[in-house]
Amino acid sequence: MRDVLPEESGLWRHVEGVVKDVISSYGYEEIRLPVVEFTDLFQRSVGEATDIVEKEMYSFRDRGDESLSLRPEGTAGCVRACEEHGLLYNQTQRLWYAGPMFRYERPQKGRYRQFEQIGVEAFGFLGPDVDAEHILMTAEMWQRLGVMDGLTLELNSLGSPETREQFRDALVAYLRTREDELDDRSRERLDRNPLRILDSKDKRTQGVLDQAPIMLDFLDEESAEHFEKLKHLLASQGMRFVVNPRIVRGLDYYTRTVFEWTTLQLGAQGAICGGGRYDSLVEQLGGRPTPAAGFAIGMDRLVLLVEMMQQGPAIAPIDAYFIVSEEALIERAFEWSGRLRQAFPALKLRMHCGGGRFRNQMRKADQSGAKVALILGEDEARDDRVSVKPLRGQGDQLTLDYEALRQYMEDVISEGNGA
Ligand code: ATP
Ligand code: MG
Repeated sequence: MRDVLPEESGLWRHVEGVVKDVISSYGYEEIRLPVVEFTDLFQRSVGEATDIVEKEMYSFRDRGDESLSLRPEGTAGCVRACEEHGLLYNQTQRLWYAGPMFRYERPQKGRYRQFEQIGVEAFGFLGPDVDAEHILMTAEMWQRLGVMDGLTLELNSLGSPETREQFRDALVAYLRTREDELDDRSRERLDRNPLRILDSKDKRTQGVLDQAPIMLDFLDEESAEHFEKLKHLLASQGMRFVVNPRIVRGLDYYTRTVFEWTTLQLGAQGAICGGGRYDSLVEQLGGRPTPAAGFAIGMDRLVLLVEMMQQGPAIAPIDAYFIVSEEALIERAFEWSGRLRQAFPALKLRMHCGGGRFRNQMRKADQSGAKVALILGEDEARDDRVSVKPLRGQGDQLTLDYEALRQYMEDVISEGNGA
């Protein structure tokens, strides 16, 4: 688990802001969910035989002897909340959530034990239009963040639970004939979770998989039609994609459409967003059959990508640093700074606290990264004015009354301010 320090948090806010703006622009509403759920919820949704439930969950007993887990993903909790509050009763829902997820994994660049996701879920939509909407929505985010060039959309269809079962049997039958060529991990998975073998990064296993049966050949008629329509919709909007029959996703609950946005720039941690359809999950968790689709963005990886592609905006940590030459003037300084903050809700104005010599205060102002220093000395106070001194680039020090300062600050704030 890691800390996000002040030097990175501005970029985080920028990326989160863009993602949330795009989601809102599609008419989705926020749902805020707890970080802890009953362990049983994840066993029933994510699936007993998945890596997540088998070995990645942070589970513990609380004082009432209930088994609880830190959420490893957001969809299960979202479905649980919708059921609990009757949100799926005779209505559709388009929701999003943001927050930390927890998985006990081997930490490395782009893979952490606590990581942030922003997730989107739509309930009650059976057709491929909503799948397309989700993909277009994510593409819009990458465009606005300037990282589209680094990303590829990979698509697959898992069909229905029945056809998936048939495919699984065919896959296992084939892999049994070449069992000795598989890596250890894949051999283990042959009994427990054979679909995950398709994910293997092992070269030799991949060679074996090249001749394995392909999921898309097993699709039922309706799933095949759904997939064709989706591809057609995406193409009609100029979206480029590759069909990758090896995409299975790590969770048990997916049906039909699955997709991932991947990049080559983050090593093995190449997936920055994954999603798809999970038409049987609501029923599996005790609700009425409700079609559903969604996706989750790995925000840590997205921020890394924006940083690596140098698409972050220049963000000044603060706009102005307020200096007071005499301790007795601090009350006046609070009045001035209060008025300015009220006039400019986005203004980042830091007050020098703790007094000290003027020269030292000036040095602090310089180090703060502020664009200007505001100075209140005896002369200024007598005339009911404040001096403003540019700290970056040229410009003279000016002594201004409130109205003139307000106008001056308007320019300071708008000038190259990304956050
Ligand atoms: P991976 O194959 O990289 O383990 P995943 O399939 O387990 O990813 P999902 O469960 O689909 O991931 O979660 C959606 C997104 O969340 C991923 O595409 C990824 O960007 C991000 N993510 C998943 N696990 C982690 C992690 N441990 N640290 C950081 N981001 C993660
Ligand atoms: Mg994983």
